[in-house]
Amino acid sequence: MKVPVVDPNLETKVPGLYLAGSIIEAECIRVAANQGHRIAKRVALLVNGSGPAPEGVVDLLIAGAGPAGLNAALTAKALGLKVSIFDQYFLASTILAMPDGKIFEPNYKGNNDPGEGPLWFESAPIPILHTKWTDQAREYGLSINDNEPITNIIRDKDTGLFEVITSCRSYSARFVLLCIGKSGHPRPLGVPGEPELAYRKKLHYRFRGPETVNSKDVLVVGGGNTAAEAVVGLSKKNHVTLSYRKGEFERLTPKNKAALDELSNMGIIHVMLNSEVESFDEEKTILKVNGQPIVRRFDEFFILIGFELPIELLMKIGVELKEI
Ligand SMILES: Cc1cc2nc3c(=O)[nH]c(=O)nc-3n(C[C@H](O)[C@H](O)[C@H](O)COP(=O)(O)OP(=O)(O)OC[C@H]3O[C@@H](n4cnc5c(N)ncnc54)[C@H](O)[C@@H]3O)c2cc1C
Repeated sequence: MKVPVVDPNLETKVPGLYLAGSIIEAECIRVAANQGHRIAKRVALLVNGSGPAPEGVVDLLIAGAGPAGLNAALTAKALGLKVSIFDQYFLASTILAMPDGKIFEPNYKGNNDPGEGPLWFESAPIPILHTKWTDQAREYGLSINDNEPITNIIRDKDTGLFEVITSCRSYSARFVLLCIGKSGHPRPLGVPGEPELAYRKKLHYRFRGPETVNSKDVLVVGGGNTAAEAVVGLSKKNHVTLSYRKGEFERLTPKNKAALDELSNMGIIHVMLNSEVESFDEEKTILKVNGQPIVRRFDEFFILIGFELPIELLMKIGVELKEI
């Protein structure tokens, strides 16, 4: 797996270009938001003393209005920086895409970090979180450039200024924070039959809630919280099989682990550990379970095995990547 190289200040090898959030493996909101806050504080320090930004240039341009970007933008505003923030969709779009009923917990994956910066975050369902964050953006006079993805970032070696190119136009900035998450790039399994089923809308890489799937035989592939939460939701009205390539679940929250154990013990779901899909077909899916091939038929498929980095964009921008 490739990850971007950043220094302890979260600056990339491109001077003045910072990364924060899940793009550098921050696995929960607090860690992502705290990183954004620290970067904005650092930029304020660097900008201080070098005079106001020239006409038409912002001090800090932020790509991505998730928790990392929003906390950075609120902090930058509070510190008097000229800041602008862009999102390919809209504020907190990753969070809004999660299933209805999801409660965001600050102690997700055992995290206990205290919050830094203005961003409000307590245990809350999606609508509350979204309303609070929208209100905070308004209070701070922050206007988010919606539906405007960043497509390239070029640093002028002579002036040190960035030209940031979006789908609409280009902007000039002294510092750039890229915190675009990974949500746009779900990881495929890469086995035969997968693209065809995805094309026919039988195979999905996102789980948006159980409402659309009813009385079906469903295969969920994955061993993380996304897969677990999908299984729990889908099991209310469907026959669900969960396939995971490892022998035990290592990354689940205690709540999700307990929910899976309970459903499995009651025979409501079928958990196949040490299993891997070999090929997909609407009529027969071939799985290898403990090395033995088995054939099953499913109506719908959810491949929830995480997200890939936006590698192409990172390489174009000049961010160094390392294999881990
Ligand atoms: C199933 C699941 C459950 C979770 N539950 C919890 C929980 O309970 N508690 C918790 O603390 N954490 C939880 N997390 C983790 C949390 O969602 C992430 O840590 C957090 O969203 C990371 O924030 P971010 O700002 O880095 O990225 P994101 O929230 O992904 O935001 C990135 C933003 O960038 C935008 N973007 C993407 N590409 C571009 C582009 N080219 N130009 C401009 N904008 C772009 C996106 O539209 C998005 O709005 C969960 C994650 C998952 C998958």
